[in-house]
Amino acid sequence: MMFLIKMTQVRLILIVAAFLTLAGNFTFLEKTILVYPFSENWLFVCSLLVWLFVFLSALLLLLCYRYTIKPILIILLMTSSLVSYSTNNYGIVFDHNMLANTFETNTTEFLDLVTLKSFMYLLFFGLLPSYFVLIITITKSPLKTRLFQRIKALLIMIFIFILLTMSFYKPLSSFARENPDLRMYINPTYYLYSMTKYVGAKFNTSTTPFSQIGLDAKIIKKVNKQRLLVLVLGETARVDRFSLNGYKRQTNPMLEKEDVVSFQKMTSCGTDTSLSIPCMFSSLSRTDYSHSKGKNMSNVLDIVSHAGVEVLWLDNNSDSKGVADRISFEDYRLAGVNPICDIECRDEGMLIGLQDFIDTNPEKDMLVVLHTMGSHGPAYYKRYPDTFEVFLPVCQTNQLNECSDDEINNAYDNTIVYTDYVLSKLIAVLENNIKIDESAMFYVSDHGESLGENGLYLHGMPYLIAPDEQKKVAAIMWFNEGLSLSLDIDLIKEKIDLPLSHDNLFHTLLGFMNIETEVYLQDMDIVAQ
Ligand SMILES: [Zn+2]
Repeated sequence: MMFLIKMTQVRLILIVAAFLTLAGNFTFLEKTILVYPFSENWLFVCSLLVWLFVFLSALLLLLCYRYTIKPILIILLMTSSLVSYSTNNYGIVFDHNMLANTFETNTTEFLDLVTLKSFMYLLFFGLLPSYFVLIITITKSPLKTRLFQRIKALLIMIFIFILLTMSFYKPLSSFARENPDLRMYINPTYYLYSMTKYVGAKFNTSTTPFSQIGLDAKIIKKVNKQRLLVLVLGETARVDRFSLNGYKRQTNPMLEKEDVVSFQKMTSCGTDTSLSIPCMFSSLSRTDYSHSKGKNMSNVLDIVSHAGVEVLWLDNNSDSKGVADRISFEDYRLAGVNPICDIECRDEGMLIGLQDFIDTNPEKDMLVVLHTMGSHGPAYYKRYPDTFEVFLPVCQTNQLNECSDDEINNAYDNTIVYTDYVLSKLIAVLENNIKIDESAMFYVSDHGESLGENGLYLHGMPYLIAPDEQKKVAAIMWFNEGLSLSLDIDLIKEKIDLPLSHDNLFHTLLGFMNIETEVYLQDMDIVAQ
């Protein structure tokens, strides 16, 4: 061997803990200094860092032994480097929802996030320090000596921790109380904490028995007319970017010509796909929803299907997040299935699948979900065919920090123009199927997006601190002539300025499909008459 670096386990742990504390907390420090200016609070800010270091060291001293030390430290270094990248560049916080989102992200979405800068973070904050950990030779010493060193180090850390906590008790507790969001930026402690929460929830979901609800559901109709509802799940579509809703740019040239009802105050259940989607279809409200409860219970599609409606989920996004586990599902991201693909498969292709489904169901009522790719970021420029590049210049990279806010917003607005086109095509499909007496489209997005407001980008902020841009979503309804006769559309139009939310979706779908069940709440049904 060319060179040899020897050190004790304790020393290696302390070095790595110091490195992680200093290299991983730029955003935390930056945000802290905003609240506590460094010149007046330098002692407090430094003590915070020491406090974090001491806590992490004590944790690692408890976890790292001869065979676990190198794997644990290396995994921690690699993960923290990527977390740092996401937090420093996109303001992303790794709470347990974000983790669920990360684990459930597919490869294409993942590739959208790979950039040169993310590689630099991985190299300097992950790979190089990991290499250092790998080549270190841990000094061998008798068990007694090692044990003594470790207990001594642990006691010192605990002592410093208590000393710091006691001397800064007042500022520390008011800091924690007044800035509950800041702890989420602490790297690696916060994502480790989220990880235990996520694993706990997963374990709960897999051990809780499935509970069926709405088994009394029946279709009750006054007149025997066939009904079709197409529910379009939008992706990352902000309400304020639709010219239908007053946006200054014409992003809805097609829908503006249609008689649609556009809701102005619809809020999402979560700020990311993996939380919003299952929550939207669940009978639980946003405040009651958790994956362990919601995913273990019949959702509205199960109930509608049980009542006798033909239900189909077409997906051009990721998957149904478990919602379509018990109903028919078709993956439209595959070029063999989706007939309209260029650099990626387009949402418009699902309309062909919709027509096929309509053709095979000449009599029964139908509910079809189209899960669109919509405005999924950060690679907005990939989300529409070239002809929809209306606003220029656009950000042509997934590395948002390389683009101006104008370029990012142009690319995003183009995705809305494409969505506008897809929805108008869908309306045309529904209008062409004259044999179906009553049909409707209900478009609603899963969450919004930050596009540079207050330096924030993308989505997935914890709900408590998420800005409106991530929570206020587009929601649009269209009814064919037959359904306009059955429903009092003016009554529905009166609700466009009411504070609606994804909580309304469960009951609205039941209402749309004429389903009676004890779990239906008429007050929550947007189309209730
Ligand atoms: Zn989403």
